[in-house]
Amino acid sequence: MDIERELEEKIQGGEALAQKLSEASEDAAEHLYLQWARSCTQEESKLQDRALDLDAECFADIRFDEPICDDNGMPLTSPIDGSPLDGFRFLIDPAMDDCGTCQAKLRTITLHPDHLDDATLVHEILHVYDEFLASNPVYRDFWVTRLYSRLRTRLEDIDGLCALNITQDVLSHDGGHSIFFMLKAYDLDLRLGLSPGTVFGYQDWAPYITDAAVEGQN
Ligand SMILES: [Zn+2]
Repeated sequence: MDIERELEEKIQGGEALAQKLSEASEDAAEHLYLQWARSCTQEESKLQDRALDLDAECFADIRFDEPICDDNGMPLTSPIDGSPLDGFRFLIDPAMDDCGTCQAKLRTITLHPDHLDDATLVHEILHVYDEFLASNPVYRDFWVTRLYSRLRTRLEDIDGLCALNITQDVLSHDGGHSIFFMLKAYDLDLRLGLSPGTVFGYQDWAPYITDAAVEGQN
């Protein structure tokens, strides 16, 4: 067998294995969810209800529930079927070090009991959307441009903020907060009436924010 053919077969074998692992991980996440649904506390169940409400209220744009048409009047179709939070467990863990974490592949959001607030919750929900759109880059790019236009009149130096996000992300966030993530976090502040930077959670960026908010959103 020539070397090219051998390499092609190895790559195809790797892809088949990745598919099997992905299916096994889906099954495991579903099993964990069913177990959680039987044994979760009342507080965790309330947290799930609040998360679903915030999802419907704050992320309808990203799911195209608010229809957007192209220049020919064709409505853009959503890559997201239903809510990406379906089948997610919501845990409350007093032993965790962070305010909250999102393990998208495990379909698990965990919050510290001192941080059951909306800002922390939507930050973690945003991680779910960010992870989902990472495998749909055309849609993520679309939302980066859309959110940029929506926010640029409200942020004093949006280009500086985007550049800062890259250095901060590389230095301390382990690649966990994309430009899409950052822009949507600022959009969420506006939707929830929070001061800019609250959902993103890095208040030392305040010099980039102007409080001269402009009426109206796109
Ligand atoms: Zn985060």
